[in-house]
Amino acid sequence: MRDLVGLTLQELEALAAGLGEPRYRGRQLARWVYDRRAIGFEVMTDLPEGLRARLATDAHIGRLRLVRRVDAAGDLTTKALLALRDGLTVETVLMRYDDGRRTVCVSTQVGCGMGCTFCATALAGLARNLSAGEIVDQVLLMRELTGERVTHVVFMGMGEPLANYEATLRAVRLLNAPYGPHIAMRRLTISTVGLVPQIRRLAAEGLQLTLAISLHAPDDALRSQLVPVNRRWPLAELVAAARDYAAATGRRVTFEYVLMAGVNDGERRAHELAALLAGLGAHVNVIPWNPVYGMAYRRPAPQAVSRFAAVLRRRGVPATIRVDRGVEIEAACGQLQRTHGARVPA
Ligand code: SAH
Repeated sequence: MRDLVGLTLQELEALAAGLGEPRYRGRQLARWVYDRRAIGFEVMTDLPEGLRARLATDAHIGRLRLVRRVDAAGDLTTKALLALRDGLTVETVLMRYDDGRRTVCVSTQVGCGMGCTFCATALAGLARNLSAGEIVDQVLLMRELTGERVTHVVFMGMGEPLANYEATLRAVRLLNAPYGPHIAMRRLTISTVGLVPQIRRLAAEGLQLTLAISLHAPDDALRSQLVPVNRRWPLAELVAAARDYAAATGRRVTFEYVLMAGVNDGERRAHELAALLAGLGAHVNVIPWNPVYGMAYRRPAPQAVSRFAAVLRRRGVPATIRVDRGVEIEAACGQLQRTHGARVPA
């Protein structure tokens, strides 16, 4: 059965036409699917009853279900554990900023197969890819849940977006579509562990997307320890791909650097990182590691974090420090699923 969530307007129009209906029925369907977040066909009262009955047998509407909601960080953050149709769960977060930005952080896979040693999601491995509809519905659900307009989406939840390339790109286009949430390409950020061939493929799409690359170390020996895929695509190849992405799209690339005390947070590392990124015109997002229950890494002291960013800036690399949102309770990344279940009754 076809899931209507995840289909483009053109595909919905073709679906209507295939059922002997005028094409404008497709536009009506798009409104129910993306605007009003209908969960069944019976509410679609502007469609003929016969069409609704046909749709109910030929197609379904694949919505996510709220399992648990947590409001954290003085209500700056709303975090949700969401169930998919098969009962597997993913996490989605809405973050509120003073300037009015409302950013939703979406998951692209259930679990993750990349094996980064400091990441909660890596612990359970990869269960499956999300469909485009399951990615988009996270945004639609958060909008419905909070009543707030979503201005930005970051693909930084569970999973590796570029390991689920087709669904991620389809989700990007749907989030950008005028009949969807209509979020500007520049306000959509894909974060990748550093899959070089897919970064190159993405550059060729000709989109104004923002690309963020998870670096976490300035040399191959250390990065291969933290991010195992570095053994496949080492830093020289990754940085070259980032440079080419920026050249092809005209977009400044962001590098994420998660700081772990005594591992990669020393001043020497900051100097090495500045040297590695010299002349790239890139931006570094310095992120204090979020504690993951049972892991031996430690959060760096606030002074170590500001010192690290200061070295980068002094050496001409723009750097910002990511503000913590919800570290104090179960709202830190990956924790909600670990506490409340990777699977609920379907
Ligand atoms: N797989 C993609 C996107 C999901 S992870 C990627 O690797 O970029 C989003 C970001 O959160 C990545 O930079 C990741 O390294 C970082 N991250 C993972 N675990 C973390 C933790 N415990 N504390 C802080 N950042 C973490």
